Amino acid sequence: MIHGIKGVKDLLPEEAARWQVIEETARRLSFLYGYREIRVPIFESTELFARSIGASTDIVEKEMYTFQDRDGSSLTLRPEATAGVARAYIEHNLGASATAQKFFYLGPMFRHERPQAGRLRQFHQYGVESFGSASPLADVEVVSLLWRVLSELHLPGLTLEINSLGDVADRPAYKGVLLDFLKRQEEQLCQNCRRRMGTNPLRVLDCKVPTCKAATEEAPKLTDHLSLNSRQHFEEVLGGLKELGIPYLLNPRLVRGLDYYTLTTFEVTSQHLGAQNAVGAGGRYDGLVEALGGPKTPAIGFAVGIERASLVLPDSAVPSLGKMVFVAAFGQKGVPVGTRILHELRTLGVRSDSDYRATTLKAHLRQADRLGAVFVLIIGDDEAEKGQVILRNMTSKEQQDLPLSTAAQSVASRLSSV
Ligand code: ATP
Ligand code: MG
Repeated sequence: MIHGIKGVKDLLPEEAARWQVIEETARRLSFLYGYREIRVPIFESTELFARSIGASTDIVEKEMYTFQDRDGSSLTLRPEATAGVARAYIEHNLGASATAQKFFYLGPMFRHERPQAGRLRQFHQYGVESFGSASPLADVEVVSLLWRVLSELHLPGLTLEINSLGDVADRPAYKGVLLDFLKRQEEQLCQNCRRRMGTNPLRVLDCKVPTCKAATEEAPKLTDHLSLNSRQHFEEVLGGLKELGIPYLLNPRLVRGLDYYTLTTFEVTSQHLGAQNAVGAGGRYDGLVEALGGPKTPAIGFAVGIERASLVLPDSAVPSLGKMVFVAAFGQKGVPVGTRILHELRTLGVRSDSDYRATTLKAHLRQADRLGAVFVLIIGDDEAEKGQVILRNMTSKEQQDLPLSTAAQSVASRLSSV
């Protein structure tokens, strides 16, 4: 037999029901905060990601699913959606609108990583992007929406960590200070981090290897090297979060894996997840739209990993399937009548089912029980001839006769009162 691909999961109905809760909450709250859905393609030209995410990031260096199209052009399955949304924003000239452009998206992303719990090769994200406002209030809105979604899902043990990377102008001076520090610690750093020192020293602070973490414990903090403007922006963001009662933790090491971030960066972790404990993360990316050839446009967004949210989503957050009615029809005359009743029930909006394989009442009732039916409508040849059906209440086991012509309607109204 042919197996699915490593790190690429099937979502069976029970898991899909959990996702629906997450997706429904994400859609509802995004809309509530003034964000509208955008759907961008799953593949784009490779250059879009290389240019936006940054050539010396893990994603671009080793995680992208890149392939050659038939005409020789290089295409890539999206590893994240911000680049695609920014491209669409530029391509459709959305910046010309007088209102701020705020989007949310849901969909699959692809990264060639080592599969483990909470880390897949095809995974899914819910995210938002807010274009056009440089105000710290936009940061506060985005962070508070993230916090609201995760809190409303009752995800346990959440912590919001926040940092400022300063703007691009603050970066070179800090990079120098950081490099001086890293050079003194080089012995302790992993191979990867030594390489990063030459390409992207900030990323060393994000390394998950324990010895690297320990070696950079005392590293100079970016937040101590912010310009006046950057510092003020950060303080206003923190002030805004306090105002809304959103608890946060300052984490000067939170640099995030993508090059396009500026100023505010944040991450929400759950202590109930294992090593891959980030549920959602994001930040400001004021330079991205311009870097992709669009007008200078401040922007900020986040992305939530749906798989990870689902891992910690409490069962109590998932609604039960809802009431259903089972039609048990048998016999040459009973079956066609049952088929009609089933159709009537569905027309009335009643969730209903039958089992076309069952030929005895006993077999039907067993299936009704397995499906958790509240009522069963029993129709054999006798009932069909008399123009009646038997209504069985699966909880009380009581049965009564109903006239066939009004049976569906009568069950529908009873259903709303059980
Ligand atoms: P991490 O440090 O956990 O690798 P990241 O910085 O690579 O995260 P982002 O690119 O910011 O993650 O993506 C946002 C969210 O998407 C993460 O917080 C996580 O919940 C989820 N995510 C990222 N990569 C994967 C993956 N390979 N499998 C499942 N979920 C993922
Ligand atoms: Mg990652």
